[in-house]
Amino acid sequence: MKKILFLFCLASGCFVQQGGCQDPPTSVRKPLIIILFGTPGTGPGDFALRISDEMSLPLISTSSLVQAYLTQESPIGASVRETFNTHGSIPDKLLLDMTYDYIQKRENRSDFILDGIPRTLAQAQSLQKDLSPQFRILCIYIQVKDAAIIQIKSGRVICPNCGRVYHKEFSPPDDPLTCDQCDSALKQLEDDVRENVVLRLNDFHKRATPIFDFFKKEKCFAEIDSTAYVGEEFRDLVNAEIRRTIERFDIDSTRALKLEVMLS
Ligand SMILES: [Zn+2]
Repeated sequence: MKKILFLFCLASGCFVQQGGCQDPPTSVRKPLIIILFGTPGTGPGDFALRISDEMSLPLISTSSLVQAYLTQESPIGASVRETFNTHGSIPDKLLLDMTYDYIQKRENRSDFILDGIPRTLAQAQSLQKDLSPQFRILCIYIQVKDAAIIQIKSGRVICPNCGRVYHKEFSPPDDPLTCDQCDSALKQLEDDVRENVVLRLNDFHKRATPIFDFFKKEKCFAEIDSTAYVGEEFRDLVNAEIRRTIERFDIDSTRALKLEVMLS
């Protein structure tokens, strides 16, 4: 009976009524952690920077964590220095330790963006399990179809002398082998060689798919198909989609949280 009354109040929008439902406390809203992924070639790091700037959301990235702990006198700081001095990559556990420690010590309890973490399914599971009591997580995947990435990347050639960038299909030079501006021989970067682009895409899908499947199951995953946006205004259009996705998720999940509290 109690549940039915609450649901009726929610549906009719009458949160505050004499002797009826109480407006749930505003402290119900948990801060949001936004995790951005992008198909290799879309520049997810750049999106993280721009969204952080546009929405005034702090950005916590792997490199900013390493910078913060390199000079810190603490067991985590010592481990980071040791890894750095041996030129090793940051082990998964150390990355998580840094992330948790940093998040717990933040004075500002605002929403924030996490860039470069998680790298594995195990890290995604840990984040969800350990942080969900205090935070909500939203994973956003900026997706561009592999065929489009291969077409864009593998068609790129640059002039090593003046730096001008051409595309064999979209902005070809007059002579396919030489620069229009300075007559130097054009070059294709190693990263843009078709086989290397395909390899990088395959690696990414192998690593990211289990993470996405996990967040899908947790109902905190959104995919933005950005293939149609590829072109000059790509960044602006995708940025607008990311902002809309964050705002929509925030409204929906805050509603869900309120409902949980009211039914408990
Ligand atoms: Zn040139």
